[in-house]
Amino acid sequence: MAIVVGSGAGGGTIAKELAARGHDVLLIEKGPAIEEKDAHRFYANVDAGVKLMRACCLGGTTMVSAGNGMRCLEAELRDLGIDLTREFAEAEEELGVRELPDEVLGEGTRRLMDAARRLGFPVFKMPKFIDPRRCWRDGLCGFGCPAAARWSAVRFVEEAVKNGATVVTEREVEALLTRHGEVCGVRCEGQEIADDLVVLAAGALETPRLLAGLGLPTSPLFVDTFATIGGVCPGIGFNLDIPMGAYVPCCEGLLLPHYARQLLTLLRERGRRVGPGDILGMMVKIRDDDGGLVGETVTKGVTVRDAHLLTGGASVAGAILEEAGADSSTFVTAPLRGSHPGGTARIGVSVDTNLETEVGGLYVADASVLPAAPGAPPILTIVALAKYAARRMER
Ligand SMILES: Cc1cc2nc3c(=O)[nH]c(=O)nc-3n(C[C@H](O)[C@H](O)[C@H](O)COP(=O)(O)OP(=O)(O)OC[C@H]3O[C@@H](n4cnc5c(N)ncnc54)[C@H](O)[C@@H]3O)c2cc1C
Repeated sequence: MAIVVGSGAGGGTIAKELAARGHDVLLIEKGPAIEEKDAHRFYANVDAGVKLMRACCLGGTTMVSAGNGMRCLEAELRDLGIDLTREFAEAEEELGVRELPDEVLGEGTRRLMDAARRLGFPVFKMPKFIDPRRCWRDGLCGFGCPAAARWSAVRFVEEAVKNGATVVTEREVEALLTRHGEVCGVRCEGQEIADDLVVLAAGALETPRLLAGLGLPTSPLFVDTFATIGGVCPGIGFNLDIPMGAYVPCCEGLLLPHYARQLLTLLRERGRRVGPGDILGMMVKIRDDDGGLVGETVTKGVTVRDAHLLTGGASVAGAILEEAGADSSTFVTAPLRGSHPGGTARIGVSVDTNLETEVGGLYVADASVLPAAPGAPPILTIVALAKYAARRMER
């Protein structure tokens, strides 16, 4: 048997891969199984200084993703001896990663792309795991896709179930059990469940706590800190665009077309008469310094370097927004957030290159193992790493 803790990008993939290889999989998920359109009700954000975003439900944070399917950290992982060429190709195929046709991207996104090009910046279309034929173009990816047009880890969980996996939801794993240096199960709401193969995929804010309970080493948190900047552009209808349909590499991270409801609130607080369709915005996302800590509480601040990158990115984003037609006298910035918590159980610190800890049979396969802040969407890399590790878990 194999116990998988958590059903997000990492856990969903491990469950599918192990079940397909004939393992008797028990997947334990803290959150409930939900309808995709309700995912926004299951955000379990953590205010750590920077506000950290995640979702706790079957499918984990993939249930609120923007469908961005970029390869990241490929070179860093290769330097560590992990070549994901095969796994990335498989993941792209299975998630259906593709560029979306121009007509699907929306007027605001097209304007921002054109404006960035006119100002001399390189602009790329974002590879997406969104099926353009099913997409309703309602801009609701971050709330939970009502059209189920975007891949989520629930699809992998469903495949695991077809191959015999058992899924238990609304049950929290509280501790890991070991005997003579080997894992021997988990404690889940007072009940001990025995197994000699346990894969932790509870996300970067929970996995290190479970490891620390065994006295295993953990590492500092990064989150890809971001700010969203926006201003008034009457009637643009950008709130309905697929978010982040394109990107501009900048300031050790990315600039991305992005509508945030906080922009509307901030503009109204300043007395602007605007509706959701009157705002153009961009996200400045950086490869932040990894100074965060996950202990009893979670803390994550902003270093001088982070601040430098964020202000540099903000000035470029402001120039692009203005060139695209947003009124620069109205610009506002939403509070700093981080939607890619990771690095808290890194390869080389908490796990080896097979993603196994020093406790035999105990693996980690989620964003915790990433060796550095990606400054880019990590789902595809987490899926590829989980596939890679599953191939090495023959017990
Ligand atoms: C709004 C938003 C949009 C995003 N968009 C993108 C995007 O477009 N592309 C991209 O690449 N990335 C995106 N991300 C980031 C991406 O979703 C995460 O990096 C990724 O899902 C992390 O995968 P994971 O397996 O580490 O954790 P998660 O996907 O968060 O899964 C962890 C799971 O473990 C469960 N769990 C936690 N503790 C326990 C426990 N003790 N017992 C049992 N279960 C437990 C949780 O409930 C959760 O379901 C986005 C993030 C956010 C917040």
